[in-house]
Amino acid sequence: MTDTVPYRGRFAPSPTGPLHFGSLIAAVGSYLQARANDGEWWVRIEDIDPPREVAGASDLILASLEMHGLAWDRLSYQHNRLDQYGAALDALQQTGRLYPCTCSRRDIAASVDSSGGPIIYPGTCRDKTGVVVENHALRIDTRNAMIQFEDRIQGRQSFPLSQESGDFILRRTDGLFSYQLAVAIDDVEQGMTEVVRGCDLIGSTARQMHIHNLLGLASPAYAHLPVAVDPDTGHKLSKQTFARPLDSSMALENIWDVLDFLGQNPPPDLRQANLASLWHWAIAHWQLDAVPTRSGIDVKSKQFYDGQTANPIGYKMKPDVSYEPD
Ligand code: GLU
Ligand code: ZN
Repeated sequence: MTDTVPYRGRFAPSPTGPLHFGSLIAAVGSYLQARANDGEWWVRIEDIDPPREVAGASDLILASLEMHGLAWDRLSYQHNRLDQYGAALDALQQTGRLYPCTCSRRDIAASVDSSGGPIIYPGTCRDKTGVVVENHALRIDTRNAMIQFEDRIQGRQSFPLSQESGDFILRRTDGLFSYQLAVAIDDVEQGMTEVVRGCDLIGSTARQMHIHNLLGLASPAYAHLPVAVDPDTGHKLSKQTFARPLDSSMALENIWDVLDFLGQNPPPDLRQANLASLWHWAIAHWQLDAVPTRSGIDVKSKQFYDGQTANPIGYKMKPDVSYEPD
């Protein structure tokens, strides 16, 4: 980053439920990194997957952010940007790296021996020629794509995409644009200089960078925060594991707990102070270097999780064909 490019970051929730402690970590981490760099912080509602959306969730998320003292510079909704995703898809078609896929999830599961591991699409339709049937998905070829980047928290990352994710979907059979496509395009077109989000998305970063590379776009910088791990299940705290919605009347305590989670060592007396003082302290003292370089942290015992998979930080990638983040 040079002095001439002001910092811009974002928080990009999907409206699939209210904000919970896990999502607040990504909100606070991205917000502090932006404010500490005198930058802008945008909120982008990722509402292009109606089947997964919950009515009223985006308003609940926004209200909860406000109650926690997180004020955005700009708010955008992905449903307003479908034309841009269509244009990007056309441009990607021109590269010759997209192809129609007519496999069902069951076909794919049956065609690979994953031995309990993640199912990686084997490229069945890659070289199919002939009539293109309707209702097909569009996949992107990942052969020979070795994605490398320097994560600002987790350090050097290398993802041989064809092994770790396989050819992934850009447009689904139901005609909806995929999360990967929309995010890759938005982060560049909205001028994000850095993306700060949870480690569960680090494999998605590699996929999004593959899209950038094929379109000749410069990727933003990336910083992946540890994710909150549920003490009972050992899995990421997420809407699927019924993480409790945040209680906004506890905003002060919630923000203090997130700062503590992120290794910022907030002074204990600020947990009894007021939200404005806590934010003031947090922005003035924010240190990205103090954030634990771990993929997950148990919210109760503070035990670290590193997982045991091949990628350097160990957070289990989810290359499954059905994968969409929550
Ligand atoms: N909308 C997705 C989520 O809520 C991804 C956000 C991102 O790319 O930061 O997990
Ligand atoms: Zn296929």
